[in-house]
Amino acid sequence: MKAAVLHEFHTPLVIEEFDMPTVGDDDVLIQVAACGMCHTDIKVQEGEIPLQLPAVLGHEISGVVVGTGKGQAAAFKEGDRVTVGMRYRCGRCKYCISGMENLCQTRTQGTPYIQPGGAEVTRWNLGGFTQYMTIPGYMLFRLPDGVDIEESSVVGCRVTTAYNAVKNAAQLAPGESAAVIGCGGVGLNTIQFLSVFGAYPIIAVDVMDSKLEAAKRYGATHTINASGIDAVEAIKDLTSGGADKSFEAIGNPITADQVVRSTRAGGTATLIGSLVGQQLLLKDAGFAFREVTIRGVAMRRTTDVIEVLDMVQQGRIDISSFITKRYPYQDINTAIDDVHQGNVLMGVVLWGD
Ligand SMILES: [Zn+2]
Ligand SMILES: [Zn+2]
Repeated sequence: MKAAVLHEFHTPLVIEEFDMPTVGDDDVLIQVAACGMCHTDIKVQEGEIPLQLPAVLGHEISGVVVGTGKGQAAAFKEGDRVTVGMRYRCGRCKYCISGMENLCQTRTQGTPYIQPGGAEVTRWNLGGFTQYMTIPGYMLFRLPDGVDIEESSVVGCRVTTAYNAVKNAAQLAPGESAAVIGCGGVGLNTIQFLSVFGAYPIIAVDVMDSKLEAAKRYGATHTINASGIDAVEAIKDLTSGGADKSFEAIGNPITADQVVRSTRAGGTATLIGSLVGQQLLLKDAGFAFREVTIRGVAMRRTTDVIEVLDMVQQGRIDISSFITKRYPYQDINTAIDDVHQGNVLMGVVLWGD
């Protein structure tokens, strides 16, 4: 089987040959159909996230079951269409046993891939840029009928993270005003869920007009191009003093400060973009006196994946139009370039023969 290997940071991935993985008792062997190219993979490729090289990246995976370990034989059968919705967990800590596996602090790691000759290659996160992989059964979700297998690959990351932000972190109620700074994949999905949940107005903020146009298609009622104006003041003007719920979907300390300042007294500022390792300076600590809640988002809960897959099946949300490009695995480095240059809303890499 083939997989894409990162040997050195800032260098292209290389397609190489591997042995088929050994299936553990609690594992399921899947033939990967698609694996999304996410900004997080690119951060890894650029050395912003520490890991041991060489490594196989990729964490937005869908595929077909081709084998099961003893412990999973009753749960899955060959031919089942699945998507990966969770990350590794310990299964024993207070988070794991209370349905909050997304907060588990003692995650296990996938076994390395082995090359003919015995060389080991680390799996970063799930290691989904491959034709075949083993994965613990608890991480897999069967696809409802009618849900496209390639499109479903992105559900377990960017789509469900946005859902978790709107539903659980911000606890958005119908009629509340909302602002989203950053209209990439997560931001646009956040806007779509805000629309489904009944927010109004829904204000999209970005510095690229093309992204603001896309935001309108997913439900933004107002757009602000922040390249020439003060986004905080513009949001306050549109919401009589601040949004009930505001969202940062980039992972940038400057825009994180902006969402806190553009939230009304008593409202909630939700920081979706990862700020790990960065310093967050708030221009005005008056948020405390205004009782603004600052909320974080860590991936998703198991129930989020189930609910979102149902919403996709029922047509209550649209994910097809997000997948603006599909790349054969031989062109995986073009996918990286396109995400870099903002040429795609979401791109997926296809791993079929
Ligand atoms: Zn992702
Ligand atoms: Zn745990």
